[in-house]
Amino acid sequence: MGSKAKQYRVLLYYKYVPIEDPEYFAKKHLKFCKELGLRGRILVAKEGINGTVSGTVEQTDEYMEKMHEDPRFEDLWFKIDEAEGHAFKKMHVRPRSEIVTLKLDNDINPNQKTGKYLEPEDFYQALQDEDTIVIDARNDYEYDIGHFRNAIRPDVKAFRDLPEWIETNLGDKKDKKVLTYCTGGIRCEKFSGYLLDQGFEDVSQLHGGIVSYGKDPDVKGKLWDGKCFVFDDRLAVDINHTEDARVVGKCYHCGTPAEQYINCANVECDLLHIVCENCEKELQHCCSETCLEKKEKHEKAEVK
Ligand SMILES: [Zn+2]
Ligand SMILES: [Zn+2]
Repeated sequence: MGSKAKQYRVLLYYKYVPIEDPEYFAKKHLKFCKELGLRGRILVAKEGINGTVSGTVEQTDEYMEKMHEDPRFEDLWFKIDEAEGHAFKKMHVRPRSEIVTLKLDNDINPNQKTGKYLEPEDFYQALQDEDTIVIDARNDYEYDIGHFRNAIRPDVKAFRDLPEWIETNLGDKKDKKVLTYCTGGIRCEKFSGYLLDQGFEDVSQLHGGIVSYGKDPDVKGKLWDGKCFVFDDRLAVDINHTEDARVVGKCYHCGTPAEQYINCANVECDLLHIVCENCEKELQHCCSETCLEKKEKHEKAEVK
């Protein structure tokens, strides 16, 4: 541990449970979160809740306690990360039609149909079976900075494009053993159910997602390469705590191994890209020479 005390936390959680009136719930919940002093992003739908928030130990304790008092959320599983400060700038609670956008023609209710849950130790064992197909149920940019060794990288820009990709690329492998994983587990709930629906015979999902896998005291994140992309100001966190950790990210500019994601400093561009220290300095946080010129123009205009 460094000298800086970790007095903040980031909570990650979800639950598929009926919520009558998402609009009303969102309004009330936003007020509640703001009063507590939390920051973060929460999605609410008729099918459930999906959130990630940051706050002090006291604030997050109170939030978890209050949530557990609600019968709908009494067994809500909070994945807790220690942090040195807030991981968000603002607090949002938004009503949506889904808590993770998948837009399936035949929607899946994970409480009725979902893949087998594997705990980290069992998932670790299953990963080592050569005959098993391991599917990363995230977006391509998440895969690029870290993933399970031997996992397939679906060539999709967004999670909602995954079903189509599966049918085209794995449609003839439905008799194989399939493992799926994602950051906190929520995407696999529906996605593994979808695979079963499509005729895949043996589908399992990593219970609690990558973040829980990294915290398991026995597995210690083994067979995870790189970092895990997260949707807050930290952008990426460590998972593999063994000697065997490898870097898989590559600098967008020069291709050398790198593990840092940044957004292009030209605000009009904002491109998310992996960058090494040298290129970051040289291009002043920009993704291209063009963006660097625009950024400098913008700064000159501001000085006047
Ligand atoms: Zn570079
Ligand atoms: Zn740019």
